Amino acid sequence: MKSIYLDYNATTPLDPAVKEAMLPFLDDFYGNPSSIHRIGRKVRALLDDSRERVARVWKCKASEVVFTSGATESINQAICGSARFLKSKGRHIITSAVEHHAVLHTVEYLVNNEGFEKTILPVDTNGCVDPQDLVKAIHNNTILVSIMAANNETGTIQPIAALGAVCRRFGVCFHSDAVQWFGKEPFDNIHQFNADLVSICGHKFYGPKGSGALFIKSPLLPDPILFGGSHENDRRAGTENMAAIVGFVEAVERFVPSPVFERCLLEPFSVRLSSLCSLPGVNLLCPLAKRLANTLCFTVPGIDSVTLLAALDLNGICASAGSACSAGSLNPSHVLSALGLSNSEANSLVRFSVGRETTDEEIDQVLTLFPATLDQIRGV
Ligand code: PLP
Repeated sequence: MKSIYLDYNATTPLDPAVKEAMLPFLDDFYGNPSSIHRIGRKVRALLDDSRERVARVWKCKASEVVFTSGATESINQAICGSARFLKSKGRHIITSAVEHHAVLHTVEYLVNNEGFEKTILPVDTNGCVDPQDLVKAIHNNTILVSIMAANNETGTIQPIAALGAVCRRFGVCFHSDAVQWFGKEPFDNIHQFNADLVSICGHKFYGPKGSGALFIKSPLLPDPILFGGSHENDRRAGTENMAAIVGFVEAVERFVPSPVFERCLLEPFSVRLSSLCSLPGVNLLCPLAKRLANTLCFTVPGIDSVTLLAALDLNGICASAGSACSAGSLNPSHVLSALGLSNSEANSLVRFSVGRETTDEEIDQVLTLFPATLDQIRGV
């Protein structure tokens, strides 16, 4: 049976050209960029070049690009690093109820262990944060706001530039987890988010897993979270993973300025898939929201996600219940709870996310297999 992969928001395959660019760094270019000899220096030059290449795409200074081991590290660095750096000015952090756990759990850690306080902004039924709610939540003690650019479960796109503008107005540091945005939405430059810190990872747009970066707008200097050598201009200790960095840069250049998830190609697939929501007991979520074109999210109350995903998998369809990190657990999606859904509804989430390799024939098959799978589960 051929698999139908509808989980591109969890990860994408590695693009062949990206892989090709990485291979020399698993072979000939093995030098440590911090070594002073010629083998190290050659790799150092390629590391410097990689940073310049990202800065050219982002239209920022090379010194504002810090390579990380992916989004989770980038987010931890942004939130812990700037909260600790700014704590003499205040201890209040604002985030939203629909953030990825990489944000929510990091903020929770700071609250539980380091004396910070938090406000979690609500969202409307489409998963959107209202900039006016942010205005109301900011007070004298607020030092940091972290709001995602696009949601991984619902695909909802936040009014991120407007939220950033509010932070600018009040002089509060603004971080955006833009992991699901890059490669999907039009990108001109990193300043379009109006953010001081932006997190990104490579494997959501055909780059390697374990690759990513943090944009840090100068002159902000968040505390480091990793200690050791003086790599990445003293911002991130540890010998650089050159293969991952070069793969990340190649993917950024190829797939961000002209998004690899092309709306004109993918939206028709999402529209066709959304016809599944006319089946009895299937509810489309966030129909009115400005959404990522590749993402479709719905609930099937009465059938829990794990049962449904397992049955779909047996029929060859690889889908997800939102965040891959909570796949396999029966915890209701915190994102759907934030939209006001009950626990049992939030437990019945299914997300389809399409990508470059998705075909019309695959969508035809899903439109037949999905109702048949529901019938199998319901014993019809
Ligand atoms: N933020 C968002 C919105 C995500 O979708 C993900 C991964 O799914 C992450 C952060 C964490 O990414 P990683 O596990 O690659 O570090």
